Order: sequence, then structure tokens, then C-alpha cells
Amino acid sequence: MLNEGGTIVLGCQADMPRGGQPEEELKALLPASIAVRFNEMFPHLRNGRVKRRDRKRAEMLRQAEPVLKRALGATEVVRFATNGVRQLMWWLLTAGSMNPFANRTTLVLTDKRVLLIHTDWKQRPRMFANQLPLDRIRATTGRNSYIFIRTGREQLMFHGVKRSEARHLRGLLSSTASKEGGWQNLCPRCFAPTDSAPPCCEKCGEEFKSPKKAALRSLMFPGLGDYYLGYRKYAVLEVIGATMLWTLFLSTLIPAVMRRGIEGVVVAGPLFALVALIHIGDALLTRAKAQTGLHSKDGALPTNGKRGRR
Ligand SMILES: [Zn+2]
Repeated sequence: MLNEGGTIVLGCQADMPRGGQPEEELKALLPASIAVRFNEMFPHLRNGRVKRRDRKRAEMLRQAEPVLKRALGATEVVRFATNGVRQLMWWLLTAGSMNPFANRTTLVLTDKRVLLIHTDWKQRPRMFANQLPLDRIRATTGRNSYIFIRTGREQLMFHGVKRSEARHLRGLLSSTASKEGGWQNLCPRCFAPTDSAPPCCEKCGEEFKSPKKAALRSLMFPGLGDYYLGYRKYAVLEVIGATMLWTLFLSTLIPAVMRRGIEGVVVAGPLFALVALIHIGDALLTRAKAQTGLHSKDGALPTNGKRGRR
């Protein structure tokens, strides 16, 4: 993974011990198209050694580069970045154990805003992005690996960040006077911000998926809404789970009714309540997921790989 190109071109460096020039090594790892405030991004660089964590942060930015390239303004500078898990209330209430897998997010602090990029577990941009202009931050708190960013409207809960990084980030995020408004959605194609959730982008015309449609599909059968939104793997898992539950329900109901007539319905009653609860719960969860960010109708966030848009 280390930049072999660099060492070949700069032949004299190839013989030097690895990490002899930490700044040079990290600069070579960082994406060339993004302006980075080096001292804030790597605050603990010393003793001529590049820490694993610093290298990982540079790699994280490289993964996010296709989004950053399009989203950042011409003079915008990246100050810090970290990858963690966005804690979403509906997930914690209904599918808490899936939360760390489904809601991985790269948080990028620039001189203008806090950018959230939904990623997969390899930190590749995935479905949607949000932003918070810096003048909307009411307060930043947190402890250990948690960061809470409060706005005029809601609070972001961010978790799973290395302690030292969380502390550093909290120090960089200052509160400001205006504090109006909350997180904004970004169009996954042109990255124009919006405070609402329009059916299509006002700037580039990109169409977005409807949270209502997603919820109705999941209400019909758990997993269908996730499939519609583009979370195919979770959709398959949910369909399998719900099918098993329906099978259990029907295999209880049918023999009971055959044996005891209409009274048999009572036997399967609690199971039916459970099935209904799961349909409703999944509908609400799917709607919450759809509302977390704008889901493009025919694409995802741009990545370095093949997936997503060119
Ligand atoms: Zn757009």
C-alpha cells in the first residue's frame, strides 16, 4: 500500500530508513487534489516517526477523495478527519446491533463546515452525505470515544473514534454566535446543500428516493424498503428473518385453526402481534434511514472503485 511510485521516482529516498521524513511520507499518502492543514491533521507528529493512526487518517482521506473533490469549494481547506459510527436514534431503538455496521461515517472538518460522508466498513463513500456549516454549531461535547455536536435543531452523536482523535476534534470545533439551523443534506451528485428533503436536486436535477415509498415497502414486507434505498445486503437479511417469522406464524396458525376451528386463531395471536410489530418497526426504521440523507435514484456517492457514479 505504501507509495512505491514515490520511492522509485525519488531514488535517493528509497535507501533511507522508513519514516525518516514523516511529513514527506504523509504528504505522499494524502490525496493530491485536496488542500490539508497539515499541523491540525497530524497534531502529534514527532520523533521522525509516522504513527499507524496518522497513516490510516491519510488513507481515509484518499478513500473520501472522490467526494471531497466535488464537494469542497475552491479555497476550502481540510483541517481534520476521522471515521466513526453515527448513532441514530431509530437504529439504537430497533436494530442497535446493526448500527456499527450500517452507519459508518467519515467526518471531515474543513475551515467552513463539518462534512459527514456515509461509508462502508472499508471507509469507501457509500450512499449519502450531510454537512453542518461551522456557524451552526451550538456546542461540542463528548467523552472518551464520543463526540456530540449540538446545533440549533438537533444533536449529532458520533461514536467509535479513537480517544485522542475525539479530544483533538472537540478542541477544534468551537461554538459560534449564530447557531441557526441544523444539519443539511447534500446532493450525492453535485453536493449542493439543502435544509429540506426535496424530491430532486434544484441545482443538477438529480432525483432522490422517497422516504415515504421506502417506509411503505418495508411495512408491506421487512427488507423491501431497504432494497429500494440500495441497502441490498441488509434487505436480504431482513427478508430471510421476516420469512422465517412468517413461517413460524403460519405453521402455528394453520394447525391450530384446523384442530380448534376459529378459536385456534387465539393461539397464534401473540405471534401475529410480533410479526405486525416487526413490520411496523422496520417501516419506521427504513423511513428514518431514508431521512438521514438524500439517496440518489440511480447512483450512490462517487468512490475510487467501480461502484457509484463516474
Ligand atoms: Zn445535485
